Amino acid sequence: MATPKPITIIGGGLAGLTLGIGLRQRGVPVTLSEAGHYPRHRVCGEFISGRGQETLARLGLRDLLEHAGAMGAYTAAFFSTTRTTGPRPLPAQAICLSRFTLDAALAGKFRELGGELLEDHRRADEDAGEGVVRATGRHAQAEENGARWFGLKAHARNVTLVADLEMHVSPRGYVGLCRVNGGRVNVCGLFRRWAGESDRPRDRLELLRGPAGSQLHQRLGTAEFDADSFCAVAGLSLQPKRAAARDECCVGDAITMIPPVTGNGMSMAFESAELAIEPLIAWSRGERLWTDVRSQIARRCDAVFARRLAWAQWLQRLILTPSLQNGLVTLASRSDWFWRLAFEKTR
Ligand SMILES: Cc1cc2nc3c(=O)[nH]c(=O)nc-3n(C[C@H](O)[C@H](O)[C@H](O)COP(=O)(O)OP(=O)(O)OC[C@H]3O[C@@H](n4cnc5c(N)ncnc54)[C@H](O)[C@@H]3O)c2cc1C
Repeated sequence: MATPKPITIIGGGLAGLTLGIGLRQRGVPVTLSEAGHYPRHRVCGEFISGRGQETLARLGLRDLLEHAGAMGAYTAAFFSTTRTTGPRPLPAQAICLSRFTLDAALAGKFRELGGELLEDHRRADEDAGEGVVRATGRHAQAEENGARWFGLKAHARNVTLVADLEMHVSPRGYVGLCRVNGGRVNVCGLFRRWAGESDRPRDRLELLRGPAGSQLHQRLGTAEFDADSFCAVAGLSLQPKRAAARDECCVGDAITMIPPVTGNGMSMAFESAELAIEPLIAWSRGERLWTDVRSQIARRCDAVFARRLAWAQWLQRLILTPSLQNGLVTLASRSDWFWRLAFEKTR
């Protein structure tokens, strides 16, 4: 058999590492360049839900995550500033693991399988030609429909939750809380700043703690934040994009970002990586042309994600409309149908 052609992956987040692992498991030579290093904190709700968990199982990675300390999540509760659903069962189990641990565990696995991983190695934009997969994460966008989106996250101790996932919505955005490995709670928020609003940097802690008097503020009243875990990201684009519209081979957020309120972005990173494995192997073996492989991967991703992205956009709009927030929380507390719909349609 001819020597397989090597694949280059740009970006060592979840999509890039999962793809690298899948290809190495099938004997394809892979070089992966990551601009940062491991371990490091990332802005992320650290709540893994949806079909990506099946991808992890198929790639034999569930045990790796469990050994790394992944926690099962079985219940969720929604809060507006004044109302709550109370804890309710999640339609399907999820898992929570800090990105500090998760990305490093996947990077270790990729190396163990013989992958070449270059850390602190940023590749130029024009590098994405034949045999190159872009897994560089979200495309930065300064403003979307008059709003600027930014994310903040920090780990905290001394926080008692009433559900495995707590989602707190307020007119400024929302904050998710879940227990992660190491006895900590991940506090992660997505916030919106309208055009014309002051660009003066706000106290990040103040934003994460939520409006005074809110249930989030009470929940985090005794929180001891780990200063080293603070991180922020800006320029988020939440408009769904199609993989077929990209002129490069992309996986994960490099295709499009699903609104983080769904807790499905990591799943899409795992799933898109898995969808790319077989076509890339065929190219590596010289059985397919690069252009065919690239468009097959894009078609597969669009077929799997389009509906989910449309529902997620709808959900995100509803949840972030301040005048609807109390009503939605009441509806989610009373209606099994709405509760299931919100989870199932976005996964
Ligand atoms: C506020 C917020 C909360 C979220 N909460 C959740 C949640 O609870 N659950 C969930 O499932 N998802 C959540 N997400 C989404 C999730 O974090 C992403 O969908 C996921 O990280 C995408 O993985 P990725 O590998 O595509 O991108 P990333 O994880 O962003 O990785 C991309 C990598 O590429 C590297 N890179 C970029 N450019 C280059 C270059 N030129 N050369 C080399 N390397 C490069 C970067 O350093 C980075 O490591 C959240 C996102 C935000 C913003």
